[in-house]
Amino acid sequence: MNTKRAMAQLLKHLQNAGVTHITAVEIPKPAPPTLSKRMPPAGRPGQQSVDRSGSVAASSPADPVSASGKAASGSPVARSYRTLIPPADLDASSIKKPEPSSLTLQLLEEQFETAEARSDALSRLAELVSRCTRCSELSATRRQTVFGTGNSQARIMLIGEAPGADEDARGEPFVGKAGQLLDKIIESSQLRREDLYICNILRCRPPGNRNPLPQEACNCREFLDAQIHIVKPEYIICLGTVAAQNLLGSSQPVSKLRGQFLEYNGAKVMCTYHPSYLLRYPAAKAQVWEDMKFFMKDLGVILK
Ligand code: SF4
Repeated sequence: MNTKRAMAQLLKHLQNAGVTHITAVEIPKPAPPTLSKRMPPAGRPGQQSVDRSGSVAASSPADPVSASGKAASGSPVARSYRTLIPPADLDASSIKKPEPSSLTLQLLEEQFETAEARSDALSRLAELVSRCTRCSELSATRRQTVFGTGNSQARIMLIGEAPGADEDARGEPFVGKAGQLLDKIIESSQLRREDLYICNILRCRPPGNRNPLPQEACNCREFLDAQIHIVKPEYIICLGTVAAQNLLGSSQPVSKLRGQFLEYNGAKVMCTYHPSYLLRYPAAKAQVWEDMKFFMKDLGVILK
């Protein structure tokens, strides 16, 4: 049956039922999710500080989140929270664990309560890492190590894959095009980069930006675990499959790991796509935006 005929039949049916007129109703179209939408800059009303020095700051009147942290509007996000215990050794048969450094062992024994103690421990670890030659190819080809940057007592830690050319040149993670996109994601999520701690699975650039080898990830794991221990984040965001699989000891791709909270050493872990992937497949930005909405809701912030 064509549409015209179907409409005529429907109108006749309504007339027979006694309907004499129909009120026009405007149905608003939902705005498509975007990562480039403008958010208030840091420190302005509506901005949420997630520094460990305080929980999420009190909402401004413009905020869609009440002071209690509960959403004033919007439907709840129904996602599961499950715990995934990573295997102690990713692949014992083919990967040789390096002898741990005495400094890392010492740091892993300590508890850090203040920002100063954490910063000092991170500096000592960074100095050790700057001289690391465990991965012969990477240490021979890098310009410098890229240890990690950010707030030493951040509530949220972001973990990427490995430094690229820009990061290798600057000595900081996420400073190239992918880093600029990550900044937009952070800003749009009402977060501030200076409140976060950002690092990678590897601290040296793999030549040609190839994926980290399992042995290289294993070599560098001790430093990552020490950073997590020192910063002690409440949340970890894994950016991309390499970060997610290596941190969690999972063989699942990030597409299967996203949309839920996992657990690592007491931190709630969320996985989403790497900004470099978004540069190649911009359509996936919508999924990352969904992930950030899901993530921020756990912090009591409702993103539109
Ligand atoms: S990637 Fe990590 S383990 Fe390998 S050489 Fe660099 S700092 Fe050392």
